[in-house]
Amino acid sequence: MLDRARALLRSVFGFDSFRPGQDAIIGAILDGQDVLAIMPTGAGKSLCYQLPALIGNGLTVVVSPLIALMRDQVAQLTNYGVNAAALNSSNDPAESRRIFDSLRDGDLRLLYLAPERLARPDTVELLRNAGATRLAIDEAHCVSQWGHDFRPEYLALGELRRELGGIQTVAFTATADAATRSDIAQRLFDAEPRLFIGGFDRPNLLLSMAPKNSARKQLLEFLAARKGQSGVVYCASRNGCEDLAETFNAAGHRALVYHAGLDKAVREANQDAFLREDGITMVATIAFGMGIDKPDVRFVAHADLPKSIEAYYQEIGRAGRDGLPAETLTLYGLGDVRLRALQIEESQASDEQKRIERAKLNTLLALCEAPRCRRQTLLAYFGEQSEPCGNCDLCIHGVEVYDGTIDAQKFLSAIYRTGQRFGAEHLINILVGTENDAVLHHGHHQLPTFGVGRERTRDQWRSILRQLYATGLVTQDLSEFGAWRLTEDGGNVLRGRARIDIRRDALRPKGKKAKAPA
Ligand code: ADP
Ligand code: ZN
Repeated sequence: MLDRARALLRSVFGFDSFRPGQDAIIGAILDGQDVLAIMPTGAGKSLCYQLPALIGNGLTVVVSPLIALMRDQVAQLTNYGVNAAALNSSNDPAESRRIFDSLRDGDLRLLYLAPERLARPDTVELLRNAGATRLAIDEAHCVSQWGHDFRPEYLALGELRRELGGIQTVAFTATADAATRSDIAQRLFDAEPRLFIGGFDRPNLLLSMAPKNSARKQLLEFLAARKGQSGVVYCASRNGCEDLAETFNAAGHRALVYHAGLDKAVREANQDAFLREDGITMVATIAFGMGIDKPDVRFVAHADLPKSIEAYYQEIGRAGRDGLPAETLTLYGLGDVRLRALQIEESQASDEQKRIERAKLNTLLALCEAPRCRRQTLLAYFGEQSEPCGNCDLCIHGVEVYDGTIDAQKFLSAIYRTGQRFGAEHLINILVGTENDAVLHHGHHQLPTFGVGRERTRDQWRSILRQLYATGLVTQDLSEFGAWRLTEDGGNVLRGRARIDIRRDALRPKGKKAKAPA
């Protein structure tokens, strides 16, 4: 059947070959399996459900949250000669009637549905009568509250699927952290789907991160070596953008500003200039970048810590789209971390949401403090295994590490002996020997691990935990108050079958007290 798929790839879509991952995913779909595929934006997810829809009989129902996107796809498919339609709130009556007619006659191959239609009582009936054989879910992270785009309407999908008799379901998303992944799988499928993860690596991007001492000075040095190149410097605040741009301009660079506080006309003029001309440094908040396709952006720097690993990945991903070498530099400072932690605590979010936000911040810090190749750490976060890359600051310059096996064993033992049910602060209380109510209540002051970590500060233990996380020795269960658990690798280190290096420098400049969440 894959031969038939290959033939259609050429004859209908006009492509010579599959992109990485597409053939395996399409193979599994044609084989009738449920699929959860995680691929970065632009990797070619749509083809993975469009092409199988052309093989065999039956209708593929595509659920997609963006009406504009739905329209584009239907127009494109129609253009290819494929019979496809979209049902959503923007249909006029005549259009809807035409769609219902072709559904009845059974000549539609793909029907796009807006999420708000899912919960409507007549939808099941409609799809059943139309002979729907496959449900394809785009932007599947919308079903999860761990994701960044939760859409309550997506929750109706699980029910719809059951009412259609457990119809084959294939789901796609570009957001991929482990928590979101397992949440999607739980909500959409009855059994574990075939999981495909891939294509997140951008090998042409040099990854580097550095503790922030003076953002101005550090960024000026960074820019000095890249004069005449186009790049973006992301900054958390509007004022910060203005200040930095002024500094850069005074130093002879050509810097423009982009943030939501500017007049629309100014914003657009600046963006146009950046797109059209070479050698402009855009100093911007995250308002800049959505849908901007400039292939030759040679660098992206962060003056402040991004919000999460997903945000980091997306922002650095704007560099080097032409595939040529491009560089990234992310500065991280204690102030950023404190501010972010404070924002989370003081927000109106639910306790659960705050826990998720804290965990995201923490994961990003783990990447900042990673003791091994950054790309390995980053890709592992997206579920991809890889070797040291040779194109990140840690691979190129190394970092001062010590044999941290004993420290790791202390922490792993605290996790293990307390039943893998506790969060970081409780575990650290045990390590440094703090007899608070919770410790006494659980009898944890009697554990052999109690107080074995007195020689280190709480901050050092927080950093060590993040490094254990960055190297995949522990995972955090977000559904259970952030309980930490050992992975298989973690078990090996605990039992002395493997060793681990820990970074000395951690997050903290000497002599300063840090308060970072762990
Ligand atoms: P995603 O949904 O993963 O962000 P799309 O499905 O929009 O990505 O695909 C991105 C672009 O890649 C589209 O222009 C699409 O036509 C193109 N594309 C997809 N598959 C192939 C292929 N096998 N060969 C060439 N181009 C492809
Ligand atoms: Zn590396």
